[in-house]
Amino acid sequence: MPDTPPKVERSDAEWRDTLTPEQYYVLRQKGTERAFTGPLTYHHDSGSYHCAGCGALLFASDAKFDSHCGWPSFTLPAESKAIDEHEDISFGMVRTEVTCARCGGHLGHVFPDGPGPEGLRYCINSVSLAFRKAE
Ligand code: FE
Repeated sequence: MPDTPPKVERSDAEWRDTLTPEQYYVLRQKGTERAFTGPLTYHHDSGSYHCAGCGALLFASDAKFDSHCGWPSFTLPAESKAIDEHEDISFGMVRTEVTCARCGGHLGHVFPDGPGPEGLRYCINSVSLAFRKAE
């Protein structure tokens, strides 16, 4: 069996040094970029979306769709083990937070109103993602 990729663990100071202020705010402080401001919201190139914190593969462009919610949206992750889910009861709502399984970075939330067979919408901050164009 293939080994699970090692977790990325960095101190808060290391994250502050390696991330932009916006990336640090979203990935490490569970912030949210303003709707419709992220550069990847209406991005349709073929390729893969990786964690901006650690580079782990998170989503394929095939799974991206226009949800009109203001953030990049995907029907499913590249592999289920790439993403961890957590109950989030902040702001008086019950939501499911999604984080990068490798580095723990906050990505966004998953909602049960997506268009694919799974019926899921992974609503992800642009700031948490790094796009790599298909070769
Ligand atoms: Fe990560």
